[in-house]
Amino acid sequence: MDEFKKQEWNYNPKTPIENNPLFSFPFIPKKIIKWYADMWASFSETVFCLIVSIIYLSLLPPIVIFNNLNFNTILTIYLFNITIMLVVAGGLHLFFYTLRKQDAKLKYDSRRVTNSKKFTFNKQVLDNMFWSLASGVTIWTFYQILLLWSYSNGLISKISFGVNPFLFLTLFLLIILFESIHFYFAHRLLHFQFFYKFFHHIHHRNINPGPWSGISMHPFEHLLYFSTVLIHFFIPSHPIHILFHFMIITIGAVIGHCGFDGFLINKKNKIALGHFHHQLHHRYFECNYGTTETPIDVWFNSFHDGTFDTNKKLKN
Ligand SMILES: [Zn+2]
Ligand SMILES: [Zn+2]
Repeated sequence: MDEFKKQEWNYNPKTPIENNPLFSFPFIPKKIIKWYADMWASFSETVFCLIVSIIYLSLLPPIVIFNNLNFNTILTIYLFNITIMLVVAGGLHLFFYTLRKQDAKLKYDSRRVTNSKKFTFNKQVLDNMFWSLASGVTIWTFYQILLLWSYSNGLISKISFGVNPFLFLTLFLLIILFESIHFYFAHRLLHFQFFYKFFHHIHHRNINPGPWSGISMHPFEHLLYFSTVLIHFFIPSHPIHILFHFMIITIGAVIGHCGFDGFLINKKNKIALGHFHHQLHHRYFECNYGTTETPIDVWFNSFHDGTFDTNKKLKN
């Protein structure tokens, strides 16, 4: 273990952090296959998001209902989304922080959640729940209704698996890549002084984030962050693509902020959870604005790979 790990982290996953090998030249097919197999052929966050989207779609009222919106339809979606947050963020918080089922094993930051005056209601978890549920779920629901209404009214071009299976499946990969690009630029904008001071500081109260920190943001940031889904007005989509996109930016963010690298199964194996790449952003602020799906941070010199040398270089 190097000095940096000892000083800075309770648990430090394998570093240097790697970015999607699809963007490194020359191509190394083995690495690319492993990257996508980890994402799609194991019980990953991505597969979990897809499973939730399929369940969501099967429980959703028939899509024609969105032709003419009424209060009940909107309330149904709102309650669905609240439930997802309570189950996923609430469940992870209960497991890791309330019941401390895994103690500090695989926990990045040695500190427990912090309570201080900077938080709404003076408590990190209450602050995070408030911004996630009051603002986050409301704006998420607004966008979701907009998209489903637009889909059922023919404003989004439709695609089906039966007619175009290759594009139908490829869209899932493209959504993740697009989300990564959108997140980088929206997030980079939020770090300009004006936007940081008025909006983004709410998310950054969490130097040591937990599951509820995932979408704990100012309403302006929610409007910007969730706007990634507007891409469906420009690409053919099926409701499953739309729901999957929403799950990636909501559940994905909750899991990524959970503060633990994974669920420990036994000494050697785990189910991956936290995004150490983003944990570094919460600790050091001026690095890792994007995700590892696209190496935009590398291209713009803001990539922190989690090693001591990079830490020293970026601090300077
Ligand atoms: Zn930030
Ligand atoms: Zn964050």
